Amino acid sequence: LQRFVVLAGFALASFAPSLADTLELKNGRALTVARWWRSNDTIYYETDAGRIGIPATDVARIVPGEAATPRISSHPEPAEPSPSREQLDQRIEQLEVLLRREAIDSRRQEIQARLADSYTLRARSAKQQRQPELARDYLERALAAKPQHVVARLDLIWLLLEVGRTDRAQSVIAEGLTLTPSDARLLAASGEVRYRQNQIGEALADFRAAQSIDPTLPGLAERIVRLERESQSEADDSRRESQHFVVSFDGERDRVLAREIQDQLEVAWTDLARELDCWPQRAIPVVISSREEFGASTSSGPEVAGLFDGKIRLPVGGVTRVDQRLIQVIRHELTHAILHEKGAGRVPRWLHEGLAQLLEPRDAARDRERLRALAANGSLSISPFSYPTALSFVQHLETQYGRARLLWLVDRLAEVTAENEAFLQTYGLSQEEMLESWRRSLTERS
Ligand SMILES: [Zn+2]
Repeated sequence: LQRFVVLAGFALASFAPSLADTLELKNGRALTVARWWRSNDTIYYETDAGRIGIPATDVARIVPGEAATPRISSHPEPAEPSPSREQLDQRIEQLEVLLRREAIDSRRQEIQARLADSYTLRARSAKQQRQPELARDYLERALAAKPQHVVARLDLIWLLLEVGRTDRAQSVIAEGLTLTPSDARLLAASGEVRYRQNQIGEALADFRAAQSIDPTLPGLAERIVRLERESQSEADDSRRESQHFVVSFDGERDRVLAREIQDQLEVAWTDLARELDCWPQRAIPVVISSREEFGASTSSGPEVAGLFDGKIRLPVGGVTRVDQRLIQVIRHELTHAILHEKGAGRVPRWLHEGLAQLLEPRDAARDRERLRALAANGSLSISPFSYPTALSFVQHLETQYGRARLLWLVDRLAEVTAENEAFLQTYGLSQEEMLESWRRSLTERS
């Protein structure tokens, strides 16, 4: 559903003070722009904070302004880099000073609108720099400056969802819907939150409402079809409640197998909650699918054993009883689910997959020779990501410093964002120093 975010970004509102052309958007909004031009399927216009592009299909019509603005042809402008962080910071500072000095209400609002644009762009740059907390801070400021800034609001919502702050995302959406009750993108975001909370019926209602307002919202139609299928199979007297899980079925059901899986889930929950020192309060959604259904709804190939995307997804096509392999898959995906909660969505992929494999349990010995060779020629790292390196590094942290420290690392990551800072606080050593000790342990031990 990332596509919504990208699209959302296109509609950044601008309030150019000079009289100029008006872009009337299909969603009912209008943008007065000093300069615009078209290149392929995108209409670009200038704001104080930088150049913005929106899909041409979003624009209903363009009303020429009265002023003698030079009309811009459809010929594309040379690509110009978006404003740098420094430029944005400078712009923000200037606007903040202006705002402090301005006493006239209408002018203050205009400055605040420009500030909101700049904060939003600055947040995106922070997000690109992997500084989600900073990004969040800028987006909150953008909304404080201009609560009706739908783009800032949507960016904030998706950011909150990414870091696992579903509750906060929900209140940001609710706030937005009181300001602009019929914004299709806000309704779609609300649907996404409901879906993640396993409220399929409510999610569907939101997605349908969004679609009725803006049928062109990308990805929405397919999303609704998939959810309708999911809700059908769930309503089909097949949803089973258990202590720590809400289990539903996608496709064929084998009741005996389902009961066995449920028992294994409970066993694994008790064990892994203790291993990870985290006892999730809310029931974890689990979807049991036949292999074909799993492939269709997750776009994954037969090599994927399971998946955690807010729900634990277990493909069981062709399986008639719970075997050791399936137990490992259950433990692996459940580790992701618990870790997601414990780490507030801030645990990096190498640590997620490293711990999930460690607790399957899977032994890193299998790949040791290969990793040792990599370590020996100095090219062993956890980036780019690979499963064997993630497991090996996490196993090293565990063997050398123990489980408790490993869990502190997760706690630190949940609180502070910077990975290296979390390493320093947990181990008294930087991440690079820990990686170095891992490489040494592989080459030194024979
Ligand atoms: Zn995994």
